[in-house]
Amino acid sequence: MCDFQSIPILVVDDSPTNLAVFSSTLRNAGFKVRVAVDGVSAIAKAEYDPPGLILLDVNMPTIDGFETCIKLKANPITSDIPIIFITGLSDREDKLKGFSLGAVDYITKPFQEEEVLARVRIHLKLRFLTQKVAEQAAELQKANQELLRLTIIDDLTQIANRRRFNEYLKQEWERSQREQEPISLILCDVDYFKHYNDTYGHLAGDICLHQIAQALSRVIKRPADLVARYGGEEFVIILSNTDSFDLVKIVRQIQTEIEQIKISHSMSKVSKHITLSIGAGCQTPNLEQSSESLFKLVDSALYTAKSQGRNRCSFYTDNLENE
Ligand code: GH3
Ligand code: MG
Ligand code: MG
Repeated sequence: MCDFQSIPILVVDDSPTNLAVFSSTLRNAGFKVRVAVDGVSAIAKAEYDPPGLILLDVNMPTIDGFETCIKLKANPITSDIPIIFITGLSDREDKLKGFSLGAVDYITKPFQEEEVLARVRIHLKLRFLTQKVAEQAAELQKANQELLRLTIIDDLTQIANRRRFNEYLKQEWERSQREQEPISLILCDVDYFKHYNDTYGHLAGDICLHQIAQALSRVIKRPADLVARYGGEEFVIILSNTDSFDLVKIVRQIQTEIEQIKISHSMSKVSKHITLSIGAGCQTPNLEQSSESLFKLVDSALYTAKSQGRNRCSFYTDNLENE
């Protein structure tokens, strides 16, 4: 038996005799059959456990097959189930109406058993294959998304990587140029991290980098901002549409957050805990300025912070004093 034959078929007919004939014809051919005696119960059954195919009688009391079809097609749970109308009506108009309501086929009574079975088989198989293709497409899309995520995420820290940083800086820089808005950049370097690895081991060093990344992410909450691992024990932050006043506030929050996680560092020469040296800068770029120029200025601000004793921030802006 093929896989598709195990998908249940719902047969809907108000005549018990017709139901019995249809069901036994299908069951004898190896299909799984469910039945409903009117449109209302057919809709309820289809919604509760969607079948692979519905064979639907047109002439039924209360709501007829056409109305039942309209209701099934309007419900997202049942809208994709193929419907074959079964009726004594051989009128062309009725057939066209059936198709216009979304039916996939039309069988007129009296029917040829072999013909019904052939039609049922082909539509059920089509439904089975369509669903399989849709499932595979969804899986492929998920895999692609994961692949895309892996290309922009740093494996160790689970924040954005340098590639994502470069891409996003370019994008935000151009936006700042167009809209004449300030953009801020923060570069952080862990102090005496080589000593940390030497004292606590490389694995502890990895955990420490992960904790720092999470601490930075807790501070940088706006969706338009980005925290990335620039490389090694260096992190970089892009703050879109952020002026020097807000930049200073965010740097203070970063310093507080890092202070609060209190990662012991007995071999640091500036504290008992892990600290960062920070270079930060803000610009409203004109069309001639490149993002590399701000990055260089922030990088040299970081160098200043290091040379002035570490565990501090040095700012570059057009109007901020270094500290
Ligand atoms: P400074 O205060 O001047 O920044 O000193 P430092 O020791 O932090 O700087 P240095 O550049 O001498 O050393 C950086 C260290 O960071 C050395 C390197 O092994 C370590 N490191 C870089 N990437 C990783 C990583 O992924 N995991 C771990 N555990 N260590 C790393
Ligand atoms: Mg470094
Ligand atoms: Mg360092």
